[in-house]
Amino acid sequence: MAATRPGLIALFDVDGTLTAPRKGVTTKMLEFMRELRKVVTVGVVGGSDFVKISEQLGKTVVDDYDYVFAENGLVAYKEGKLIGTQSLKSLLGEEKLKELINFTLHYIADLDIPIKRGTFIEFRNGMINVSPIGRNCSQEERDEFEKYDKIHNIRPKMVSVLREKFAHFNLTFSIGGQISFDVFPQGWDKTYCLRYLDEFQEIHFFGDKTYKGGNDYEIYESERTKGHTVTSPEDTVDQCTKLFLS
Ligand SMILES: [Mg+2]
Repeated sequence: MAATRPGLIALFDVDGTLTAPRKGVTTKMLEFMRELRKVVTVGVVGGSDFVKISEQLGKTVVDDYDYVFAENGLVAYKEGKLIGTQSLKSLLGEEKLKELINFTLHYIADLDIPIKRGTFIEFRNGMINVSPIGRNCSQEERDEFEKYDKIHNIRPKMVSVLREKFAHFNLTFSIGGQISFDVFPQGWDKTYCLRYLDEFQEIHFFGDKTYKGGNDYEIYESERTKGHTVTSPEDTVDQCTKLFLS
């Protein structure tokens, strides 16, 4: 389907922008995107993996949008076809990865905190998730750890040690949620997907977490994009109508 404004792409965050938080897309939104796609090229970029994104946006997601970027673009689709994949394992290689994981496990082993459970490191495609208490703790144990961490700065201290020790790995450390932090290569935020969009002169990005520390911040601030902050899927529709359809 050829858009009538070539060189321009409207690129959307998924959660909170096209759908309500952690909810599926509505029929109304799907219809709106279909109309929009007649006028401009349309893409989506989400931090979740492809399975999660297709649960939220529907099974036909790669056909509904011109571009679909899962894991911020580590998995990239264009016009229904897979055009690129990247992983932490292939970037760092087994030796560096082992060095990082071994050091992290030693650090946790030596850490004196009230309780520990299991799954201290979760290995994912584009990152490792590190939890000093262990991810398979109960909800009550999570709440307790979060309180304890606020007083004793377990995660911030651990992050500063890892950041210094592995400075040459060029990693980003992001503390989020109650019990863990993510470790991933620098630049593997949503700006990663922009490498696939060289042919566009004008990239409009829409996201709900465009503030500093939010997962849309880097792409929103990027020189390559015109950033738009939205407050809900309804707001996304309103802003796009004004920008592209009137
Ligand atoms: Mg969002």
